[in-house]
Amino acid sequence: MEERFDIVIIGGGVVGSMIARALARYRLRTVLIEKESDIGMGASFANTAIVHAGYDPHPGSLKAEMNLRGNAMWDEVAQELNVPFERCGDYVVAIGPEELPRLDKLMEQGRRNGVPGMRVISGEEMRKREPLLNPATSGALWAPSGGLCEPFSATLASAENAIQNGARLMLETAFIDFIWQGKRIIGVQTSRGPLYCRWVVNAAGLFADEVMHKAGVRPEFKILPRRGEYLVFDEAEVPVKNVLFPVPTKISKGILVTASLHGNPLVGPTAQTGTDKEDRSTTPPGLDEVIRGAQKMIPSINLRHTIAMFAGLRATGNARCQAPGVAYQADFIIEIPAGVDGLVNLGGIESPGLTSAPAIAQRVVALLKDAGEPLEEKVDWNPLRPARPRFNRLPRALQSQLIASDPRYGRIVCRCEGITEGEIVAEIHGPVPARTYDALKRRTWAGMGRCQGSFDLPRVVAILSRELGISPIEITKKGPGSEFLVRLTKDVEAEDGI
Ligand SMILES: Cc1cc2nc3c(=O)[nH]c(=O)nc-3n(C[C@H](O)[C@H](O)[C@H](O)COP(=O)(O)OP(=O)(O)OC[C@H]3O[C@@H](n4cnc5c(N)ncnc54)[C@H](O)[C@@H]3O)c2cc1C
Repeated sequence: MEERFDIVIIGGGVVGSMIARALARYRLRTVLIEKESDIGMGASFANTAIVHAGYDPHPGSLKAEMNLRGNAMWDEVAQELNVPFERCGDYVVAIGPEELPRLDKLMEQGRRNGVPGMRVISGEEMRKREPLLNPATSGALWAPSGGLCEPFSATLASAENAIQNGARLMLETAFIDFIWQGKRIIGVQTSRGPLYCRWVVNAAGLFADEVMHKAGVRPEFKILPRRGEYLVFDEAEVPVKNVLFPVPTKISKGILVTASLHGNPLVGPTAQTGTDKEDRSTTPPGLDEVIRGAQKMIPSINLRHTIAMFAGLRATGNARCQAPGVAYQADFIIEIPAGVDGLVNLGGIESPGLTSAPAIAQRVVALLKDAGEPLEEKVDWNPLRPARPRFNRLPRALQSQLIASDPRYGRIVCRCEGITEGEIVAEIHGPVPARTYDALKRRTWAGMGRCQGSFDLPRVVAILSRELGISPIEITKKGPGSEFLVRLTKDVEAEDGI
């Protein structure tokens, strides 16, 4: 039977998932399609997790507008979705007297963008707040509205809330082309066959240029992947408590050192423009740049304390910022393009795209409304997404209750992060089911700690095999082609009841 929807959203990153959530409020048949085996495997997983205050983008740019609006929405969004968010504020740290004037410039830009509460503090005061900082710290810009979130949790929770309110999610479903009736888009051809609809929303991140080109929109627009490499440090060895930016460079916000909501501090990212949209490798020169940048701010940081490294790809576009007086800044595209009926087109959603995602979703709804789409609210729409228990975040009494109700919460599968079998099983059968090792890692943080999976991996593979009813040989790290095991050597009795 033909699949008919009102709206097809291409791309299950934080932007597509928040758009799906916003549209699920209305009486529309909405489907979110994602080419990968899970949502949030692109930039929405590998980033710095900062909800930016908004002093960076040029005043008048769409980036500045979305950043400020998005930032202001995070308290409510995080509360409704039941995901971690802390409005901890952030600092831009000047090292040496020569960097001090840059703080005033940023402060002025932030003031023009409407960032609340910013002020410049002395080097002495800054070092009281973060004692590990370089003794040459000459001052800092303090922006109390900056924050930290868990980007994947926010992506997952948004998709779950959309599903809870009636939206469909189709994983391993790649957009291939548009289906046309004259100049009107009437559907999309996907790797799973055609999906018919009245509107398509392009939220394909790094691949958004290729999607819009298939509709003949902005043929000159190009996305170049800009790789950012990171190091993750052991919290016990690098007890950084704050979000610390250096003064920004012309092309990026620079190498920052930041606390994270998971505990382990993060250092990075680099900014290397390339052409390969799949190349998330880390490199010796990149990691060298990361460590040198970090040591400029925190001299005691040492490579020996690294527990992991990763890289993310920014979807840097070449759409010019239209704000007057701006020489050049790549800006976000959020539009219904002229000449094509049925497309909401997004592009160049690099940083601060995570911060902006709730505002971008709101803007997409407004564009559809302006285009005459009748948006009738569902009477039973529920913005609240229930969270599943996180064992190691619960007080002792609640942990005991949980174990009494389900003994699987009493079996620790990941020792470093304190993740239980109960949590793993809940995620495998969650609203967006985790069917690979990495999907579980993203959801529970199992394997992200000091031992980086050496303890939990065989246990998680055994649980996945049991719960999915498939052989351990079929269990993958991140989808087909990434199987862990080659063949059975002997039959091993199930261990620890797993
Ligand atoms: C290194 C780095 C650091 C960053 N730090 C921050 C930060 O601290 N704060 C901040 O606000 N922002 C930050 N950002 C930016 C932020 O991460 C992104 O703007 C945001 O995640 C973009 O979300 P998205 O949904 O547009 O893209 P993505 O998360 O990349 O999602 C796009 C999705 O589309 C899917 N897709 C692509 N093509 C197809 C197709 N043909 N069919 C079906 N699906 C398809 C992809 O698989 C992917 O899942 C950072 C980005 C990077 C890379």
